[in-house]
Amino acid sequence: MTQSAGDFRQEARAWLEANAPASLRGRRRGRFDGHWGGRKAAEPEADVRRWLDACLERGWTAPTWPAAYGGGGLTKDQGEVLEEELRRLALPPPVVGFGLTMIGPTLLDFGTEAQTREHLPAICRGEVRWCQGYSEPGAGSDLASLQTRAVRQGDHLLVNGQKVWTSHADASDWIFCLVRTNTAVKKQAGITFLLIDMASPGVSVRQIPLISGASPFCEVFFEDVRVPLENVVDRVDKGWTVAKALMQYERTMIGEAMGGVLSAVEGELVGLARRHLGQPEGQLSDPAVRDQIARNAMDSACFALTLTRLQQAAEAGQPPGSESSILKLCASELKQRRYELAVEIAGYDGLGWEGAGFDEGSLSLTREWLRSRANTIEGGTSEIQLNVIAKRVLGLPD
Ligand SMILES: Cc1cc2nc3c(=O)[nH]c(=O)nc-3n(C[C@H](O)[C@H](O)[C@H](O)COP(=O)(O)OP(=O)(O)OC[C@H]3O[C@@H](n4cnc5c(N)ncnc54)[C@H](O)[C@@H]3O)c2cc1C
Repeated sequence: MTQSAGDFRQEARAWLEANAPASLRGRRRGRFDGHWGGRKAAEPEADVRRWLDACLERGWTAPTWPAAYGGGGLTKDQGEVLEEELRRLALPPPVVGFGLTMIGPTLLDFGTEAQTREHLPAICRGEVRWCQGYSEPGAGSDLASLQTRAVRQGDHLLVNGQKVWTSHADASDWIFCLVRTNTAVKKQAGITFLLIDMASPGVSVRQIPLISGASPFCEVFFEDVRVPLENVVDRVDKGWTVAKALMQYERTMIGEAMGGVLSAVEGELVGLARRHLGQPEGQLSDPAVRDQIARNAMDSACFALTLTRLQQAAEAGQPPGSESSILKLCASELKQRRYELAVEIAGYDGLGWEGAGFDEGSLSLTREWLRSRANTIEGGTSEIQLNVIAKRVLGLPD
């Protein structure tokens, strides 16, 4: 008999109470505020290591993955309960990264047994960090136009070309990559999905500096890189289907991660308005601010319900489909509106970049506001999500 959600919640609470280090409670700010791991990462502080090891033993660094690959074998519902309990204690996830959210689930759907056995346990242990090699200088929204070339030579593919906007490539160990293996067919039909060890001879990474001084972005260059044929996911020239499936996981992940941020919206905005309008209690006097906060809160509540509905559909055994574009579009647009409003309410304090004149909260607000501008670009722009929704969800003609 399967355990009820209530029983599982009690069990998870008791386990977290016994195993989560006190110093980590209250530390979590977002779903990606955890240990990214990988071979290039510094050894984490002792409590983070202890937390990771305890979760690993239970399979709870990847709670819903099969136990055979290092996961916890939980149902999607149980995974959600565990996530709620982590949030309740504001505990950072033990491991975070594109391994867990993107390539792992994709390998569970499309990988060979050898690929899943090689890569999934290492992701669960936080030993290998992954990055995403999709975009190229001439292929962003029109991803299928990508030109990085892979030519078969015996038992391997020889890869030449360039990727761009590859987040955290400099800190990553492996890259999942789209390459062109056929130029004689329709562009989507000549793409292969490849797993490439970034320590392979011929792979080089260059950071792209940003005006802020901090940048996750890199360019990745491939010069005669030999990649064994075993690293092809699914089949040569069939990578477009795998690529689209991964993007659905990516868009769901972005939508879900933002859902967590948005659920705190109303209280935070009201608190911000009280502080900046100098009204510690009672009704906020500015009707325009009241109206905008209420709209944002209602939209966030609608989003939370949509997210729950789509998560329930996933529980019924369906992987995320094109509906993931709805999540990605709504969450990123809503988050952007929320930060616009927050910065407007904060007035002068919402414009601080550095310096003693601004407190930490104000500086972080400015940075989060600017970061939210990128949310409607990464993982496919809003216009592209609208195109997907029009074609694949609503069935509208081209
Ligand atoms: C924070 C961040 C992290 C990223 N991380 C990664 C990563 O790790 N790996 C990776 O591979 N990529 C990454 N990217 C790149 C991202 O996927 C691309 O920036 C995105 O797909 C858009 O491509 P582009 O920048 O080439 O813009 P373009 O495709 O040139 O688009 C320019 C503008 O034209 C519009 N447009 C284009 N085509 C259409 C159309 N058919 N209909 C309507 N409007 C259209 C777009 O919406 C956009 O407004 C990241 C981007 C950001 C911002």
